[in-house]
Amino acid sequence: MTEPAAPQVGADKPAMSGFRGEDRPQYADYARCVHCGLCLNNCPTYRLWGLEADSPRGRIRQMVLVDEGRLPLGDSFVRHIDQCLDCRACETACPSGVEYGKLVEAARAQIEQNYRRPFFARAARSLVYRHLLPHPRRIAAAARLVRFYQRSGLQALARGTGLLRLLRMAERDRLMPQIESQFFFSELGKTYPAQGTRRARVALFAGCVAQVSFAKLNEATIRVLTANGCEVVVPAGQLCCGALPAHAGVRDVARDLARVNMDAFLSQEFDAIVTNAAGCGSTLKDYDHLFAEGSPEHTRAQAFRARMRDVTEFLDELGPVAPLGELPLRVTYQDSCHLAHGQKVREAPRRLIRSVPGVELVEMRLADNCCGSAGVYNVTETATSLDLLSDKMRNARETRAGVIVTANPGCMLQLRAGAEIHGTGQEVLHVIELLDRSQQAATSHR
Ligand code: SF4
Ligand code: SF4
Repeated sequence: MTEPAAPQVGADKPAMSGFRGEDRPQYADYARCVHCGLCLNNCPTYRLWGLEADSPRGRIRQMVLVDEGRLPLGDSFVRHIDQCLDCRACETACPSGVEYGKLVEAARAQIEQNYRRPFFARAARSLVYRHLLPHPRRIAAAARLVRFYQRSGLQALARGTGLLRLLRMAERDRLMPQIESQFFFSELGKTYPAQGTRRARVALFAGCVAQVSFAKLNEATIRVLTANGCEVVVPAGQLCCGALPAHAGVRDVARDLARVNMDAFLSQEFDAIVTNAAGCGSTLKDYDHLFAEGSPEHTRAQAFRARMRDVTEFLDELGPVAPLGELPLRVTYQDSCHLAHGQKVREAPRRLIRSVPGVELVEMRLADNCCGSAGVYNVTETATSLDLLSDKMRNARETRAGVIVTANPGCMLQLRAGAEIHGTGQEVLHVIELLDRSQQAATSHR
């Protein structure tokens, strides 16, 4: 049997459906799929429901039919594309090199531009993607309101009286990020000197919601990097990476955010741009997908990509030198989809975990299976997300690890909710927090 010829990069068969332009799945990308089905068993939604239409191959087939005008861009297509986690586990399994993440995000952009969602869905999407995430002051204002709800006793009251269960909001309430006392916005524009001889100069990507709910993680990231000889700059002018709008198909916003971030980070020389959020890192590395090949912005995005590193990837490449103290912990590692499948980074975080004296790393079954977080999937598709979380927590519990370590704030929120819902009693830490704790143990024993 001869292998089907790979399509030429850049080859674009005109769509018969009338859809034109960049914001739709491109022939050169979807024609790589040879329908072998090797991705099916890697797909969480296919494994849950056993439906071809909710498998990677089935979704690609629907994209082709829509592009050819043989399937309406209607409710059914939208539902199957919405139900995809964009976890990219299918890319890991695919022998044909199908960039499924690129395809599904293009399909979502096509939906965004050609399909009218119900009123409340439109209003919520517009509020979150257009009027909240790109605006740091609004994020801070919304965070203060949530913090008041969480700390004034209102949350405890709503939980205790059963009101949340009545409103079917109990699980969503558990998945809500805990808002911190100090926001990270005040650190933008600052530079933190390296301890000892400077080995590298890096720029920290601080995130958007992370600045109000993972400020301590950002601070720990700075401590770990500076202790390992890095000067850390937190460039002013940076905004949300655009991952959530890009995943939702709101590409005009994602492009605007990409332009702003490229300006903020490419105006100075850095050895690397680092992030502690695998979901952000994956989008930051893929900024070139947002712009037409050959355009000046595409070229800038490729320069940006060349410097972009997940913090675990960067530290592992640099070689950590900071003294580490003993932590007698049994831990298991949950691969973040966008680190393992999106960025192909699997061993760096594991090597860093194993480098901590006293830590025993026990692998869980299906560690690179999605935990159900998937951006806002746990809010928009809560029931499916909780099914996936239930499997994840069963596998995590089997390891008898006291700590689940991961590399993405979104996964941390989901796993913390999982530990609470399933009563596993496990602590959830970022790889960087484990290193930071170990560094502090070394300092306190001096
Ligand atoms: S991205 Fe994940 S959920 Fe979507 S088709 Fe691929 S494996 Fe399935
Ligand atoms: S493994 Fe790749 S080529 Fe095979 S069906 Fe899945 S996406 Fe298509």
